[in-house]
Amino acid sequence: MTQQYDVVVVGAGNAAFCAALSAAESTKRILVLERAPEEEAGGNSRFTAGLMRVAYAGVADLKRAIPDLTAEEIARTDFGTYTEEQFLDDMARVTEYRCDPDLTEVLVKQSLPAVIWMRSKGVRFTAAWGRQAFNIGGRFKFWGGLTVEAVGGGPGLVESLTQAAKKNGIEIWYRARAVSLLVDDDGIQGVVVKRNGKTIAVKSKAVVLAAGGFQANPEWRARYLGPNWELAKVRGTRFNTGEVIRMALDAGAASAGNWSGCHAVAWERNAPEFGDLAVGDQFQKHSYPWGVYINALGLRFVDEGADFRNYTYAKYGRVILAQPGQFAWQIFDAKVKAQLRDEYRIRQVTKHTANSLEELCAKLEDTDGATALREIREYNAAVRTDIAFNPNVKDGRKTENLKINKSNWANTIDTPPFEAYAVTCGITFTFGGLRINTEAQVMSSDGEPIRGLYAAGELVGGIFWFNYPGGSGLTNGSVFGRIAGASAARAATG
Ligand SMILES: Cc1cc2nc3c(=O)[nH]c(=O)nc-3n(C[C@H](O)[C@H](O)[C@H](O)COP(=O)(O)OP(=O)(O)OC[C@H]3O[C@@H](n4cnc5c(N)ncnc54)[C@H](O)[C@@H]3O)c2cc1C
Repeated sequence: MTQQYDVVVVGAGNAAFCAALSAAESTKRILVLERAPEEEAGGNSRFTAGLMRVAYAGVADLKRAIPDLTAEEIARTDFGTYTEEQFLDDMARVTEYRCDPDLTEVLVKQSLPAVIWMRSKGVRFTAAWGRQAFNIGGRFKFWGGLTVEAVGGGPGLVESLTQAAKKNGIEIWYRARAVSLLVDDDGIQGVVVKRNGKTIAVKSKAVVLAAGGFQANPEWRARYLGPNWELAKVRGTRFNTGEVIRMALDAGAASAGNWSGCHAVAWERNAPEFGDLAVGDQFQKHSYPWGVYINALGLRFVDEGADFRNYTYAKYGRVILAQPGQFAWQIFDAKVKAQLRDEYRIRQVTKHTANSLEELCAKLEDTDGATALREIREYNAAVRTDIAFNPNVKDGRKTENLKINKSNWANTIDTPPFEAYAVTCGITFTFGGLRINTEAQVMSSDGEPIRGLYAAGELVGGIFWFNYPGGSGLTNGSVFGRIAGASAARAATG
């Protein structure tokens, strides 16, 4: 059976729906292929908190994306600014100056227009007071350049995009897995799809690939990320296995980016193999800047306060994976308990509480408790307590003369009750993928665009390397999804 469409979009996450909605502005017959059943659809996008990194010059810009911000909310909030220059600087710094300059410029400059455009399609946003702002003297102050959040988080985002797609006459097939591209000397002609167990050819003038990375494929993780990566937990969907990257490479696409790199965080040690939509991102444990990390040997192994959490969390999963037994403890005292994020209060945590450090360290299973106790005491003694602890700025409250110092927020661990949380490495998404140009055209290994083939989101390589500024993944999918959809529609109608 062969069916004919103008544009076929592979995937049904944020990047895919943005591509489909953008294509729908200038062409009609659009099909979205989703490998997952409807109840598990939406990819990693559905697992997110819906946070999006957006450059803005002030509250007037934010109002364009969040028109329902009230005068009262504006009065009690210091939104500050997050300029294009800051976003560019953050991208350059955390990727160690490897991010593709042309794609990064598009990402940054189109970030605000993309969310305003999504709003016009029916996606509602709010300010992320709960996660990205601290209350100082009755006024909320935003930090870390991450202010915009989709209403309802990832599930809300995917639901509004799905409704918008349906309203715009976009067809969605669930349980429909793209298996290969139909390609000849004139470029892409369509996609071979396995739908409900049956293989069919879907003809189309243009195809947008937005099917995520390869993080849910343990064999590829070990092959590309390196030894032990098959032991990591997958934070999100089990459907992003890299097949679509492979089918594009088979059709002559060029690879790009940091194939041995990925986004990986501290994640509940006993979490299931893949993400659980009922728990979402709550297995993550992101409050480590307020405490210390201890590994199985009883030793600290990383600077917990090197930078704001937004700029370290995505690379510390790898550091935890490298520890003996691939796990670590996050240890806090009562002074910072109120500051721990909501995710520390879920039922599914591996946690110990004790009234003394001796008692706590003795409870840490698979761990050298005596060394842990000595390590925490040495850490406490090394804290510059003359510098005030202030979570809102990089406070410079550090340790001195330790093998591994802590650069900021060096809270002494001395006030009971003490708490320890066991974490392992949770992989979010892989950084390597397909090479695209600024029109989101997939480039061939000969250096020319492949006619009719476009890509956006997680499966694109070259943008993120080593690390990632929090909230850039959704923005990346929205910006390049929107561009890919418009480019594909032009190819289909031209
Ligand atoms: C727990 C968690 C929290 C996160 N929080 C945030 C956050 O707050 N902000 C942020 O910016 N980023 C966050 N991220 C990262 C973010 O999820 C991704 O960067 C982004 O969602 C990727 O979007 P995408 O559309 O490229 O891929 P996805 O949303 O993963 O969509 C890929 C789609 O392709 C489908 N698919 C795969 N293979 C095939 C095939 N062969 N045929 C058909 N369909 C296929 C999948 O089923 C899926 O629907 C988080 C990720 C996780 C896991």
